[in-house]
Amino acid sequence: MTDSWPLLLIDWYRAHARVLPWRNPPGAALPDAADWPYRVWLSEVMLQQTTVEAVTPYFRAFTARWPNVAALAAADDAQVMQAWAGLGYYARARNLLACARAVVAQHGGRFPGTEAELRALPGIGDYTAAAVAAFGFGRDAVVIDGNIERLTTRLFGIVTPLPAARGAIRDALGAVLPVAQAGDFAQAMMDLARRVCTPRNPQCLLCPIAAACAARSAGNAEDFPVKPAKRARPTRQGTAWWIEVDKHVLTVQRPAKGLLGGMRALPSCDWKGLGAQPPLPGDWRLLGAVQHGFTHFELELRVQALWLPERSLLQPAIAGADWVPVAEIASAGLPTLFAKAAALGQTAIRGELAA
Ligand code: SF4
Repeated sequence: MTDSWPLLLIDWYRAHARVLPWRNPPGAALPDAADWPYRVWLSEVMLQQTTVEAVTPYFRAFTARWPNVAALAAADDAQVMQAWAGLGYYARARNLLACARAVVAQHGGRFPGTEAELRALPGIGDYTAAAVAAFGFGRDAVVIDGNIERLTTRLFGIVTPLPAARGAIRDALGAVLPVAQAGDFAQAMMDLARRVCTPRNPQCLLCPIAAACAARSAGNAEDFPVKPAKRARPTRQGTAWWIEVDKHVLTVQRPAKGLLGGMRALPSCDWKGLGAQPPLPGDWRLLGAVQHGFTHFELELRVQALWLPERSLLQPAIAGADWVPVAEIASAGLPTLFAKAAALGQTAIRGELAA
């Protein structure tokens, strides 16, 4: 590892830095304005999960309308929400207001400068606290976002998978942090990661710190950051019930809470096994099973069918029941899992009728 790479990187940044309304020009002293940390904080909250291009007009509009944290804290909630519309993730806007009001109530309308104090404010996590400390106050804070994680694991050849690698990344960057230049260093890392050390096809030939890069010399940059091995998802089992009367099939509205909450579906059990009793006694036929993947598990849902001669035999009555013509069940707006089950029901019925 070439020891001087942080300074080479800062030199590159000074020559290539983008001009942004919340960014202090590289190498310049921080603005001596009380509202500067406010501008840094506002930009960082806006930039979470949103691009620089999308944020820029919002940032200009917000700072024109609410030029400091006290003005934002005194703003009407509805007006702030309206001004935020289009940036998405409204929880961030609510946290924005909560944080501005906490800064006024707890710190006299001036952002505190230490990471610990910043982290204690609503909506401020490790990354934003470090960013405001470094970019807003010139503190020697180690700023780490996803882009910096990728770049650092490549530079140092850190093979520990994320997120376990975060301690090693912090230690590696803390050890090389250029004194009194933490802000420029972090901005440089971010710019290099976005423009050169990209997730796919990093431009190592254009990289100002290629000589110091472990992944570059090993020729395996795209192997970093190492991802944790995927855990196999468990398989759960359950039963759905196809109840048909006079070419209409029974659907219900699922409980508001839980998976597929509030959606129309075939009646089904709680997917905790195959032991559930059908909603009414009768000559149930097993039609088969469908598979469906949820985020945390695979579901094998078997489908049982019952054909009744009239609806009054459905006792006890099922709350929220709605009868859908069998021929229209595919367009009834069922979620994918139940659309698969319904397709099985339709196919089986045709077989039954043809038999
Ligand atoms: Fe990224 Fe390549 Fe530069 Fe290494 S040499 S930091 S992999 S762009």
